[in-house]
Amino acid sequence: MEWNELREACLSCERCALSETRTNVVFGAGSADAEIMFIGEGPGEQEDKKGEPFVGRAGKLLDEMLAIIDLDRTNIYIANMVKCRPPRNRDPLTIEKDACMVWLREQTRLIRPKIIVCLGRIAAVSIIREDFKISQEHGQWTQRDGVWITALYHPAALLRDPRRRPETFDDLKAIQRKIREVCDHTYKG
Ligand code: SF4
Repeated sequence: MEWNELREACLSCERCALSETRTNVVFGAGSADAEIMFIGEGPGEQEDKKGEPFVGRAGKLLDEMLAIIDLDRTNIYIANMVKCRPPRNRDPLTIEKDACMVWLREQTRLIRPKIIVCLGRIAAVSIIREDFKISQEHGQWTQRDGVWITALYHPAALLRDPRRRPETFDDLKAIQRKIREVCDHTYKG
């Protein structure tokens, strides 16, 4: 499947029960040629309304985090583990994550990122390791099939607990170093 075909198919997906309560499918945003993918948990209320990932306060903070390392939404790709909002912002169920993984897998296959950054625990336990501890292992790197993978605290968690921001700043600078090491594109800074 090519990108537009994938997007169209995903926008009408009914593979799990979240299709019954969503307003919009949040496919993702950014460049399909990106070398860096950020992967979050799932859409919240604002994202569901707008059909865009990471809008609202957490999205604004994510933009600020990206700006620290000279990235923005035009030179990365942002996706979520599940593309439809879980009711009342509950964690996505395993059955929902499993059903939705087909879309993320295809997005990743087509984008072929060099770096994947998991945003928060839900993405990290699904992508890196089932027993991943975000409070202890954020900022650490693992390599799989030639792709470098790390995890940051979710921006919503940083809004709830600003004491975690200095650690996240260090993690962002480590991402910037990794970009310089493995990416072909020139990012300013
Ligand atoms: S969450 Fe994913 S699998 Fe479930 S309906 Fe939405 S797009 Fe389909």
